[in-house]
Amino acid sequence: MIDIKDIKRLSNLKEDENFRFRQYLKMNADPDRLDEQFKELHNKYFKIYDCSKCRNCCKKLGTIITESELDTITKALHIDKENFKKKYLEEDDNRYKFKTKGCQFLNNDNCKVKKCLPKSCQEYPFTDKKDRLYSMYSIINNASICPIVFEILEELKKEYNFK
Ligand code: SF4
Repeated sequence: MIDIKDIKRLSNLKEDENFRFRQYLKMNADPDRLDEQFKELHNKYFKIYDCSKCRNCCKKLGTIITESELDTITKALHIDKENFKKKYLEEDDNRYKFKTKGCQFLNNDNCKVKKCLPKSCQEYPFTDKKDRLYSMYSIINNASICPIVFEILEELKKEYNFK
């Protein structure tokens, strides 16, 4: 398992290799088979890593929140929605994102939202979604945030005998 303290350093070391691997996949991978491989590895590594002990994505990225998600969350947390919007959020294409990096719902590494997590939190790092071949750029960027993504890329390189 990768210690989250090492993820930035390790991903920097692998960055050039990861971009070469992206190019290799573009030339050689079958998109549907690659999606299956991503999904298998996603399921494998989400059983190994405990997100509640990591929270690096919550700290380094902001989530995207829809109006209805914001309604649900502010009701559940007994927060005044309009004040919260003014103080912490900016509108982006009919959805909201935090003005600053990191999630305002994170409290001492605990997610205050828990049961009504926005969809973008539930789905991060999107490694079980379709069309991964066409999202490799953002996957490589996420390898510097999420140890699961880092591990998936390393395993895929082995599966494709990529050196
Ligand atoms: S999704 Fe990745 S970065 Fe986010 S908490 Fe889980 S292991 Fe950590």
